[in-house]
Amino acid sequence: MYNYLIVGAGLFGSTFARLATDAGKKCLIIDKRAHIAGNCYTENTNGIHKHVFGPHIFHCNDENIWQFVNRFAQFNNFVNRPIAINNGKAFSLPFSMYTFNAMWGVTTPEEAIEKIESQRLKLDREPLNLEEQALTLVGEDIYNTLIRDYTKKQWQKDPKELPPTIIKRLPVRMSWDNNYFYDKYQGIPIGGYTAMFENMLEGIEVKTNVDYFADKEYWDSLAEKVVFTGKIDEYYGFQHGELEYRSLRFETETIQRDNYQGNAVVNYNSADVPWTRIIEHKHFDQNSADQNVTIVTKEIPDTWSREKTPYYPIGDEVNMAIFKKYEDMAKLETNVIFGGRLAEYRYYDMHQVINSAFNKFENQI
Ligand code: UDP
Repeated sequence: MYNYLIVGAGLFGSTFARLATDAGKKCLIIDKRAHIAGNCYTENTNGIHKHVFGPHIFHCNDENIWQFVNRFAQFNNFVNRPIAINNGKAFSLPFSMYTFNAMWGVTTPEEAIEKIESQRLKLDREPLNLEEQALTLVGEDIYNTLIRDYTKKQWQKDPKELPPTIIKRLPVRMSWDNNYFYDKYQGIPIGGYTAMFENMLEGIEVKTNVDYFADKEYWDSLAEKVVFTGKIDEYYGFQHGELEYRSLRFETETIQRDNYQGNAVVNYNSADVPWTRIIEHKHFDQNSADQNVTIVTKEIPDTWSREKTPYYPIGDEVNMAIFKKYEDMAKLETNVIFGGRLAEYRYYDMHQVINSAFNKFENQI
């Protein structure tokens, strides 16, 4: 008998399994995919660690979380400095003095603030949607050039229909610091995420290619408790309706060239380009790359349907109302723990998933 059956070998499941195993519990992890690491999964081709399900850049402020991941991998000093391109012109992301300089020619924070102030939307209430949030934050020029069409493309929804919270993720800096993340710690595991997960799962029984729902009763019978990290609506047979996600299609190419775009992440912000961004994987880890070859991935948003891979939860009112019903059901469970991006239906960064696993495991003891 296992103490925990963990459904899903992604970041939540693997963290929980590690903590439980370290505490002397017996765990079995199953995953319907052929591999571990969930959407963090990386594949090694020509020494380039390809982020198969989209780029994952680890960053956090929390000492415990940083120490935890460093048990399983050494992190490089990668710093995310994405570029946003509109109509042949490159801007820096986060919105910083580099962005304001490219947009308006201004060179001081004072000039940038004045420029934003002159075109900012002024509301006497909280912004109700993403468009209002963006317009109050950075004004029309930046909204029109770097946010409106990118967001429409990425979410396949009008920014007026999206929650303001999404854009709160986007940093605005009155400095020439173009490091996207403010966090104390940042980096990519040297050797790729898959190797990090292999280390994390050392000594833990893992079965891949296993469909939990095909024989839920059997799998449940193996353990005292179940940790479920899949889609919460699927767990409950979609009885309160289906939660929506933003899905993605990846077009990956190997190119016989040392350097394709000179940066790991380049966003394409205009409506006429179908992809939201191009990832050039070797720039995540300069040291590991073959000099004559590079791998690039175009990320193209895809409409959601049940069989596709879920990426980003859409936290709008309709979906949150549905989620609430499932969450209420989950709260009544005594032997099932729900955790991670899909089970908690949260737009989580990696460190937040780990934090959630820390908390949920702590609740157990
Ligand atoms: N965003 C934008 N322009 C950009 C990058 C981001 O308008 O060039 C908006 C977009 O609505 C996106 C949100 O900011 O959904 C959050 O972006 P972030 O890059 O944090 O999302 P990620 O895809 O990395 O999770």
